[in-house]
Amino acid sequence: MPVTSTPFPILSQFLCQVEKLTGVPPQPLDAPGSAMLDGEPPKELPKGVVIGPDGKPCRTCTSSAAWKQMLKQKQPSSTKPSSSPTFPPTATATGVAAATASTINTFDRADCPPDVEQLGRSSWTLLHSITATYPRNPPVSLQQETRAFVTAFSKLYPCWTCAEDFQAWLKDDRNAPKVSSREEFGRWMCEAHNAVNVKLGKERFDCDRWEERWRTGWKDGRCD
Ligand SMILES: Cc1cc2nc3c(=O)[nH]c(=O)nc-3n(C[C@H](O)[C@H](O)[C@H](O)COP(=O)(O)OP(=O)(O)OC[C@H]3O[C@@H](n4cnc5c(N)ncnc54)[C@H](O)[C@@H]3O)c2cc1C
Repeated sequence: MPVTSTPFPILSQFLCQVEKLTGVPPQPLDAPGSAMLDGEPPKELPKGVVIGPDGKPCRTCTSSAAWKQMLKQKQPSSTKPSSSPTFPPTATATGVAAATASTINTFDRADCPPDVEQLGRSSWTLLHSITATYPRNPPVSLQQETRAFVTAFSKLYPCWTCAEDFQAWLKDDRNAPKVSSREEFGRWMCEAHNAVNVKLGKERFDCDRWEERWRTGWKDGRCD
């Protein structure tokens, strides 16, 4: 029986309304695509999709491009929406169609779990901003806490592959956190970020300008 042909006219009406809004026909709970809602990995994963320690695709370890590719593979062409829905997805019993629509469109939305790039940008913003407000002459106790924070951060970072590499980088004595002043900590963070930039094949940032980027704003006044 098609999902819209239910013995409950109100439910049928609701499902039709949802289809009109989203362009996505209602799906049975075991429809292709719903496996992703359960977190089940698809059989063949596109290049770049990282598997988490739980054996499922790890969104915070995977680029938006690879994640999008994986969702495309899971999505039969008949359920592709013509445009993104504008209502927030809900986790109600009647939200099957909405949930399917959100599965398709999560990479275009701002209110979904982050991929590796979103997570990275937000994390660097926090880390550099911490260095920007770090005291010029921190007490020894704060220096100790800051080292402990960096260690804990490297263990808790939600992209596990990134975390492992960051921990390995930190293990090298030359990369031990330098936290005896704002200037030192800011430069150290900039070098840590550059190590990741280099690993990812991106340009190195000029660390002489870390404070302009993260504390004072650029000298040309574009941030004023
Ligand atoms: C600890 C850590 C480890 C990571 N490891 C990985 C990984 O293994 N694989 C992966 O795919 N992603 C990783 N990331 C995410 C990655 O670093 C980027 O955040 C992500 O790729 C998005 O990059 P982006 O080009 O938007 O800018 P980002 O690299 O996020 O940078 C944001 C902004 O910071 C400024 N900036 C850039 N470099 C520096 C610097 N050296 N010092 C100061 N400011 C700078 C620039 O203005 C830039 O626009 C990691 C993130 C963190 C925090």
